Amino acid sequence: MLYRKFGKTNEEVSILGFGCMRFHVIDNDISKINEEEAIKQLRYSIDNGVNYIDTAYIYHGGMSEPLVGKALKDGYREKVKLATKLPTWLIKSREDMDKYLNEQLEKLQTDHIDFYLLHALNKGYWEKFKKYNVFDFLDKALADGRIKYAGFSFHDDLSLFKEIVDSYSWSFCQIQYNFMDENYQAGKEGLKYAAAKDLGVVIMEPLRGGSLARNIPEDVKKIWDKAEVKRSPAEWGFRFLWNHPEVSVVLSGMNEISHIDENIKAAEVSYPNSLTEKEIALIDEVKQIYKSRIKINCTGCKYCMPCPFGVDIPSNFELLNDASIYGDIKASKNKYNVSLKANEKASNCKECGKCEKACPQHLQIRKVLKEVVNTFEK
Ligand code: SF4
Ligand code: SF4
Repeated sequence: MLYRKFGKTNEEVSILGFGCMRFHVIDNDISKINEEEAIKQLRYSIDNGVNYIDTAYIYHGGMSEPLVGKALKDGYREKVKLATKLPTWLIKSREDMDKYLNEQLEKLQTDHIDFYLLHALNKGYWEKFKKYNVFDFLDKALADGRIKYAGFSFHDDLSLFKEIVDSYSWSFCQIQYNFMDENYQAGKEGLKYAAAKDLGVVIMEPLRGGSLARNIPEDVKKIWDKAEVKRSPAEWGFRFLWNHPEVSVVLSGMNEISHIDENIKAAEVSYPNSLTEKEIALIDEVKQIYKSRIKINCTGCKYCMPCPFGVDIPSNFELLNDASIYGDIKASKNKYNVSLKANEKASNCKECGKCEKACPQHLQIRKVLKEVVNTFEK
């Protein structure tokens, strides 16, 4: 296992982190984790050098933290850096922040969290946190030792990312990044920005929810097959990330010993800047093939927003594109149902045409929204 210095802290973190949100469950119930198996997998990973364990209040319907607490008994707590996240959307006052942190310490059976994150920051949540004086909360939790380092995870655009990075003395941040998302959300520029300010950077969605590792299209397979050193698509995804010196740790939601072994093996040799120019070009070729499957050329600029009826136009288009790029309609349909409220869905379009007048790409928004409905709602 390779380790990297974690930003301005003096901690050394394993470049592979264990994300505790995808354990196998019983009876298809997300909150009923197969405990015996999950504990075995976590401890096996730790025994093989993983020292960054990432959970959150919300994972597995609130049951991930108690599971991690159990897994870290018998001396395992001392071997790892434990990361968890404040449930941003549940916070309704300054007091709530202390309430949830104290509950998390109990569920995790520990007296401190090493890496504590504000979960899933976006513009709305950030405004709310500022209103409730989140800086006072973090200052006090750091001072009394309940948390060792403060950070945040992020899902919004680059300008907000930079604003948040510059708003507090964070030790680290967590962003979505993979070879398809170099210009999405914080993206490559955000990664470099945070690292230049000496923040440790944790990467989530290294394989875009698994899309870059499963159902690989034939034309993509052919490109990977051209490589001199043969690697699985998943390993290429990880190697791309670890090749960046700015990346500290890459999270993987692991639930099979064979995947854990594969990831650990890759993490033993993935030094920064270790890919050859040819290999980087190969990844770029794969990326271009995926990008060529894009259905609608929406840039996500949001000039069309707000829709007077609440339709979240760019999110609908992003899901339609994902379904086409990765060929996994089921996964995108599931995301469509979970992540969009009823009024935000394409089927709520009243065809008023306001959005089309504002779109700099001159997209036929109404027509494509109908395609979204046909793809995800029929
Ligand atoms: S055409 Fe549809 S999506 Fe566009 S603004 Fe009108 S209701 Fe909203
Ligand atoms: S204005 Fe056009 S390109 Fe921009 S987000 Fe809306 S649909 Fe996409």
